[in-house]
This record gives sequence, C-alpha cells and structure tokens, in this order.
Amino acid sequence: MRREAVGRMKEMGFNAFALGGLSVGEPKELTWAMTKATCQELAGVDAPRYLMGVGDPLDFWEACSCGIDLMDCVLPTRNARNGQALTSRGKIYVKNSAFRQDQGPLDPDCNCLTCRRYSRSYLCHLYHAGELLLHRLLSLHNVAFMMRLTGMIQQAIAEDRFDAAYREFRNNYGD
Ligand SMILES: [Zn+2]
Repeated sequence: MRREAVGRMKEMGFNAFALGGLSVGEPKELTWAMTKATCQELAGVDAPRYLMGVGDPLDFWEACSCGIDLMDCVLPTRNARNGQALTSRGKIYVKNSAFRQDQGPLDPDCNCLTCRRYSRSYLCHLYHAGELLLHRLLSLHNVAFMMRLTGMIQQAIAEDRFDAAYREFRNNYGD
C-alpha cells in the first residue's frame, strides 16, 4: 500500500515527501524496513524525504542510512524536562547522585551555553530543588546536541564516510 501511495504521490508531483505512521511503537526492524522500502520507491525523485516523529540520536543515523533528509520529534526537549541529557557518550540523567560533586560540564564535547557555564553538580542541584531553569538549560543543550549531530551526519555524507562515522558515533554513544 505504501508503494502504491508513493506511486500516486509521484504522479501528482510534490516538492517534498513525508513518511508518517512509523515510529509509533512498532518493532524498529519494521520501521527501518518500511522507511527503506518507501525511500527506494522515491529513488530518482529530486525532493526531500521527511520522517515524522524520529528524535533519538541513533535513529537519526539509521533514518539517514535509509535515505531520509529531515526528521523532527519532541524527544530532545521532552526528555530534557525529565532531566535527561543527550551527550556524545550517551544519555545521562542529571539527578544521579554521582553528579552531586561533579564540577565537569554536562558534555565535554559540547560548546553550548549550558556546557560552557554550568557544571553537572549545579544541574543536579537544579533537578533536586525542582527548579524550572533545569528544563531550559537541558533543552538548550539537547537541541544543540541534535544540531551538532545533524552537522556530523551531513559532513560524513559529504566526505563519503557515513558508515565509518555511524560506527564511531555508536561506539562512543552506546545503546
Ligand atoms: Zn551542551
């Protein structure tokens, strides 16, 4: 049915194509099989492909490997409001007691305002004090992280080393 839909959409001639109804709880293998199959149907069409509701860093890589150009999701800011930070070494929860005395930045590889000005210790304090400033600081960082991530993916594609860059990211980020 998706193949048929793509065929009809191509006939109508749109400037861009959106893939919906995926990443809504189905197994990941199915998400990527459907995404890949849909992008293959769009082969040769010079128009961006947009996948709705994908915001996990590893899913960004996977979606791009299927041929997706654009994604969006509430994950980076919603998770920020729950105290979760996306970092180059994986997700961390600032509420963890391990961060109470940690004067280091949230993500040593990040140059965002939060990472430049605030320590993990301070962010941990904000969480436990119920300070709403935490939501803003972690949202700033998580959005900066996703922007940096998309830049990394763009550069890897431009330099024709997508697979190696994806492996390297996954090794540092973990699962
Ligand atoms: Zn940061």
